[in-house]
Amino acid sequence: MNRGKVIWDPDKCVSCDTCIHVCRHLASPKIRWMDTKAVMKEIEPLLPYIEGITVSGGECMEYADFLLELFTEVKKKNKTCLIDSNGAFDFDLYPELMKVCDGVMLDVKAYDSKYHQWLTGMDNNIVLHNLSSLQKHGKLYEVRTVCCPGRHKENEETVREVSKHLDPNIRYKLIKYRPFGVREEGLEKIGRTITDDKEISALQKTAKRYGMKNIVIV
Ligand code: SF4
Repeated sequence: MNRGKVIWDPDKCVSCDTCIHVCRHLASPKIRWMDTKAVMKEIEPLLPYIEGITVSGGECMEYADFLLELFTEVKKKNKTCLIDSNGAFDFDLYPELMKVCDGVMLDVKAYDSKYHQWLTGMDNNIVLHNLSSLQKHGKLYEVRTVCCPGRHKENEETVREVSKHLDPNIRYKLIKYRPFGVREEGLEKIGRTITDDKEISALQKTAKRYGMKNIVIV
């Protein structure tokens, strides 16, 4: 602690995650400010072993200017650049970034806007716009849906509608909800159980019925 603030020392950290569990907001102190040069310095020794990089978050699109700068440097090394996003930012508004981005892994948490609002606190208009626009521009790398327990009707609707709109060869990841690392308000809303296999296999069948060929269960 330094003047009431937690200071993270990456050289001493053993990645036990105790800090996250003792924080009442489940926040991680393991953050540091880095510029493009500093990130590239970490990436460079790995370049012979990787196809490219993926940036995630939080929501990495909060830092779109930084991503443009970073991706421009990574592309100079002939590596791929992917974005893992919750879809809250309209990618059409970032044409320069999309030129150097190879693809987006997009979360579509719910197709029904009211259910999406209930789950995430935000509307899904932009998410659904991104789903079709990224696909149209060949920038949709993967779609993910977290399937919640006890919500078969909503899960089914999301998987069905996403599958209807998606190129069958794009990877569709169906993710079981797991209550680990979820804040108390989320646990109260979604529950403390893992989505069962029966539900996931029913959703997998739905995706297949609507033509999806590349389904991954996580
Ligand atoms: S408590 Fe957090 S900062 Fe400390 S060692 Fe564990 S993970 Fe690292």
